[in-house]
Amino acid sequence: MSKKIIVVGSGVAGILAAILLQKKFGNVYLIEQDKKIGGLFCSKKFNNGLTFDQGSHFIKATGIKKLDQIITLGINEKKWNILGNLKGASFFGSKLNSRSPFFDTRLLNRNIYKKGIKEILKIKKFFKTQKNLKDQIEKNFGSTFTKYIFDLVINKKSFRCDLKELDINSHYHFGLGRLLAFSSGEARKLKQNKVYDKKFSFHSYNEGQSSLKSYYPKKGGSEEWIKLLKKQLIKLKVKIITNTRVNKISHKNKKIKSITLNGGKKILCSKVFWTINPGLFLKLCELENKNRLNKKIKKIYTTLHHIAVNRAFLTDAQYIQCYDPNLNTYRVTLYPNINLDQKKSINKSKKLYHLTSEVISHKIPNIKFLEKKIINELYLMKIIPKNSQVKFKHSENLLNGIPIPTIDLKIQSQKIIKLAKNKIKNVYFLGKASGAYSTGLIMINAFNEVNKIK
Ligand SMILES: Cc1cc2nc3c(=O)[nH]c(=O)nc-3n(C[C@H](O)[C@H](O)[C@H](O)COP(=O)(O)OP(=O)(O)OC[C@H]3O[C@@H](n4cnc5c(N)ncnc54)[C@H](O)[C@@H]3O)c2cc1C
Repeated sequence: MSKKIIVVGSGVAGILAAILLQKKFGNVYLIEQDKKIGGLFCSKKFNNGLTFDQGSHFIKATGIKKLDQIITLGINEKKWNILGNLKGASFFGSKLNSRSPFFDTRLLNRNIYKKGIKEILKIKKFFKTQKNLKDQIEKNFGSTFTKYIFDLVINKKSFRCDLKELDINSHYHFGLGRLLAFSSGEARKLKQNKVYDKKFSFHSYNEGQSSLKSYYPKKGGSEEWIKLLKKQLIKLKVKIITNTRVNKISHKNKKIKSITLNGGKKILCSKVFWTINPGLFLKLCELENKNRLNKKIKKIYTTLHHIAVNRAFLTDAQYIQCYDPNLNTYRVTLYPNINLDQKKSINKSKKLYHLTSEVISHKIPNIKFLEKKIINELYLMKIIPKNSQVKFKHSENLLNGIPIPTIDLKIQSQKIIKLAKNKIKNVYFLGKASGAYSTGLIMINAFNEVNKIK
C-alpha cells in the first residue's frame, strides 16, 4: 500500500497545503472533524435569503504570483467583487469617520493630542523587533499615544491584558497599524518620509491604493471561496475525509508511520501536516509533554451578531472598526456596501440591509443581553437610521474562545513545536498551530513550508 501525506484540519492552512502537496507529491488525505471544510471561512444562509459570515470575510491576494494563482482560481468579475482598498470606517468618541478605518488621534483631548504628536514626531526611527507589545508601541508611537490609544483599545476595551504581556504586532488585529493625525494635506506630506509613512495613515481609504486586490462574492458569503478551493481539491483528487478526527499517531525511529482515525481506519503515511492544536499532536503520539501549557491560557470570546434592517445604512463603509471603549462593538461588516452591484445584494422582496457585528469579550457573555446592546450601538454610531427597524437578528458565540496572543502563549507553543519536531522528523506545523493569525500570513507560511520540502 502506498504511503499517504496527511493534512489534519481543513481551514485555509490545511486546504492550501493539501492543494500544494497534491500538486507536488500526490496521495494527499485531508482530515476534518467538521461536516464541511473551511474552518473559520464559513457562512450561513438563513430562510430570508440573507447570508452572513461566521468568521473571516475578505480574501486578499498575497503578492506571491504562484500562490495568488491558486487562491484566485475561479474568481471572476461576473460573480465576484474585485476590490481595491476596502472602504474602512472608524468610530470613536461619538464620531463615525466613514472615510478611514484608522484611529483619529484628533478626537483625543486637545492637550493629549498635542503631547502625543510632539512625542511621535521626535521618534525618527521605525523599530521592528521588540520585547513585547508595550515596548514596540512606546518606541514607535511614544508613551502618550500608547496610554490613550493602544492601551485603551487593546487592554481596557478588549483583552483586559497588560500590553507588556502581549506579543509584538498584536495591535494589527485592531487595525492600529497606523494613526490618523493632522490635516489630510499635512499627513500626505509627512508620509513622504519613510518612517512617518509607517506610523501615519492617509485620511481616506482612496489614497495609497494597494496593488493587492481583495475579493468578496456577489452572492453568498466568504464560504464561496472555500467552494472554489474545494473544486480544486476534487479536481486534483485529494481525498477529503470529513466528520473525522485522528485518534492515534504511530511512530518509530522519529518518523510517523501511520495515523488511526476515530472510525478505526489506519492510514500509512510519509508526512503529516498539522494545522490544529500542537499539544494534541504530542498527546496522540503519546510523547511526554513537559511543556504543557501549564499557566492558564487567557482567552477571549467572540460573539457574532447578524442583523438586518429595513432601511439603507447611513454609511457606505464596507467595514467599521469601533475603537470606543464605552461600546461593546469591535467591528461591523456591512454586506450590501461590499457589493459593487449593490442592488443585487439587498434582499429584493424584503429590502433588507444586513450586517455582522463582531464583539470581543474577556468572559463568556450573556448573548441576548449583548445583542440588545449591539443593536442600540448600531443606532448610536449612526450606522443604521433611527427610523429603521430590525427585521432579523441572530447572535452566536464562536464555540472556542480564541487565545489572547500573549508572549507566554507564544513561548509555550514554540516549545511544544520544538519538542515535537525533535522527536518526530516528518511532521510540519501550519496555520494557527504555527502561531500565525492573519489569513495572509497563514497562506504564505503554508506556501513556503510546502515549497521547502524535497
Ligand atoms: C470572527 C473572525 C474574524 C476574523 N477576521 C479576520 C480578518 O479580518 N483578517 C484576517 O487575516 N484573519 C481574520 N480572522 C482569522 C482567520 O480567519 C483565521 O486565522 C484563519 O482562518 C485560520 O485558519 P486555520 O486553517 O489556521 O484554522 P481554522 O480556520 O480554525 O481551521 C482549523 C480546522 O481544523 C479543524 N479541526 C480542529 N480540530 C480538529 C481535529 N482534532 N481533527 C480534525 N480537524 C480538526 C477545525 O474544524 C477547522 O476546520 C478572523 C477570525 C474570526 C473568528
